[in-house]
Amino acid sequence: MKRLSILLVAMAVVLLGCASADREDKETNVKQARFDGEVRRLVAQMTPEEKVGQMTQITLEQFGKSEPDGRFVLDEQKLRDGIVKHHLGSILNCGGQARTVQNWQEIITRIQDIATKETRLRIPIIYGIDTIHGANYVLGATLFPHNIGMAATGNVALMAKTGEIAALETRATGIPWNFGPVLDLARQPMWPRVFETFGEDPYVASTMGAAFIQAQQGTDLSSPVKVATCMKHYLGYCFPWSGADRTPAYIPDRQLREWFLKPYQAAVKAGTVSCMANSSEINGIPVHASKFYLTDLLRGELGFKGLVVSDWADIENLYTREMVAKDRREAVKMAVLAGVDMSMVPYDYSFYDTLLQLVRAGEVPMKRIDQAVTNILRVKYMLGLFKNPYPRKDLAATVGAESSRQVNLQAAQESMTLLKNEGNVLPLAKGRKVLVTGPTANKLSVLNSGWSTTWQGDQEQLYPQEKDTILEAIQKKLGKDNVTYVEGVAFDKEIDIAKAVAAAAGVDAIIACIGEPAYCETPGNINDLTMTEPQWKLVKALAAADRPIILVLVEGRPRVIRTIVDDARAILMAYVPGLEGGPAVADVLFGDANPSGKLPLTYPKYSAGFTWYDRKTSEEKGGNKYDPQWPFGHGLSYTSFEYRALRVDASEMTPKDKLAVTVEVTNTGARPGMEIVQLYLSDVVASVTPPVKVLKRFQKIELKAKEVKTVRFELTWDDLAFIGPDNKPVVEPGEFRVELGKMSVSFTAHSARK
Ligand code: BGC
Repeated sequence: MKRLSILLVAMAVVLLGCASADREDKETNVKQARFDGEVRRLVAQMTPEEKVGQMTQITLEQFGKSEPDGRFVLDEQKLRDGIVKHHLGSILNCGGQARTVQNWQEIITRIQDIATKETRLRIPIIYGIDTIHGANYVLGATLFPHNIGMAATGNVALMAKTGEIAALETRATGIPWNFGPVLDLARQPMWPRVFETFGEDPYVASTMGAAFIQAQQGTDLSSPVKVATCMKHYLGYCFPWSGADRTPAYIPDRQLREWFLKPYQAAVKAGTVSCMANSSEINGIPVHASKFYLTDLLRGELGFKGLVVSDWADIENLYTREMVAKDRREAVKMAVLAGVDMSMVPYDYSFYDTLLQLVRAGEVPMKRIDQAVTNILRVKYMLGLFKNPYPRKDLAATVGAESSRQVNLQAAQESMTLLKNEGNVLPLAKGRKVLVTGPTANKLSVLNSGWSTTWQGDQEQLYPQEKDTILEAIQKKLGKDNVTYVEGVAFDKEIDIAKAVAAAAGVDAIIACIGEPAYCETPGNINDLTMTEPQWKLVKALAAADRPIILVLVEGRPRVIRTIVDDARAILMAYVPGLEGGPAVADVLFGDANPSGKLPLTYPKYSAGFTWYDRKTSEEKGGNKYDPQWPFGHGLSYTSFEYRALRVDASEMTPKDKLAVTVEVTNTGARPGMEIVQLYLSDVVASVTPPVKVLKRFQKIELKAKEVKTVRFELTWDDLAFIGPDNKPVVEPGEFRVELGKMSVSFTAHSARK
């Protein structure tokens, strides 16, 4: 009897244990501690060659070539040389351009066949790709607005939906690993990767990034519709002093922690299983060579347990570009000891050969190699690759589904940010005649920019021609006869400005689409943030025609347009809105969608002297002026919102309290609309000069005409913290001010209840 009851209790404990583990699984992120037993057993069987091979990642173009019809054909001999002879752990990239999902499935199937049938330990390959704004290397996939536009939507649930679709369309190819999200901050507007970020604010990037990670990974990475994410580019990559990509950043420790580190902290909490290192340096220390950044801070302090991959050729760069190592041998040793688990080599076996020599010479201890291999294999197990490394053929049909297109259109519409609308010139009436002009009016490449069908995204002919440019979408709305199109200028040269001006005489409004060509990374470097001369000249010339000018900005970073702002009656920021960008712009211009985006960055008025929204008081006092073209968080609607009754539920707060903040928002206009309600906090007096305000919460709400909604936020003690004089987070008791709309209310923080 006693035995039976012990057994029953034991069974109940096991069952309860399962139930609660199960519940946890459902409620939280993927579990990273799993598979430790399997990984340990496997590592114990591996030779040094097999281990070093796992740490090596090579690009696809080394294993075949593109046929004239765009299919990628593998070279079996080269593939065997990589996977069987060099024990390769990973392959990346697309071999030059996007492929059909069927071609991808063939490629991945063949790679996994060789890895799991022809190698001693049958370890599957982990294939990685840049799914930056949708599965951009899969033909027919859904290409969403780039992250800067997604941040402007202020819609976290929509962010998650787009993340889910992008995961599905990536994994449908058999590729289980996405090199995203980009968690850099847009605090250097010249930087050519601004559009890949969620803007300048750490809280927005943390919130959007975490939502994206959870949506892409779900709670079970082995699901055929989920992918492993990779937070990048850890850390400080986005802040080059010169503005040019991959050049030095100088970041004081306090700013590093106050701004740049926060999105990574949130991503680790959200369970991201991998991390890509910053290509460049912070204060003279290349991140790829820094044990402090890659191990002490990332693993020790942030608690990251996943795999760290280098960025493209960045171990090589330690001795060819950064000059902190005298040769390859020193560079490989430095990076692996610092904490790089996998090298994106990407073209040859030099890393493999060199690391093997270092291991044999005892210069890199086997313990470190085992750690790296463990981190890699664990992700492979989590992804279920040991059970089934193959694509699910039937998922090919889900790529580019109509339901995904609709989500994409909604995302593009919600990203549109109306910066100016003098005399409510927008929305335009449909029965009128318009002139459409400018270099971004009739190209799909500019709506998608980098990471779209090719790395640079500039191959117009590779885009799905059935998609509408801005011009085509406007023609569909108004009828071709009512739309005159004159290109006017290219980005860097005049074409036919006089013709555009002449055409303006016969229309009711001018829609001038200006901005930037497609680019990414170093090829997108600029020397001047000002909108290029031919473009502002076009707008200036058109102003003489005395017709309302509507400016549409299609640009990955905020190009300075101070000299033409007054010439335009309305200005719409479209960012880089993706494949539904054309229709989304037209919907907003003609009132079929009500704009609701808000700027996730400060739009500068001048091409020097940038200030962020979380500026210090000294930047706007004593003769100084905070004077951006448009502030962070700015964005108009076709309706109007009124904020009333801002309240905090207590006038005092202690560490254990949660402070509820409520506000009533009324749609006072005549049409439905969406509003991103933003809560800012000011620490009135602090031992480190406090920013004027910091965004702490935001929520997007939808209101019918005249509808009133109460929005409730909750602040915790941690929200009051800043990075103190000793570079640690601290809350200093005293007065805090909550700002919402144009209202503010104060409360006092006490370290203990009185
Ligand atoms: C970029 C990374 C990208 C990698 C692989 C690098 O040049 O900096 O963001 O993931 O290439 O394509």
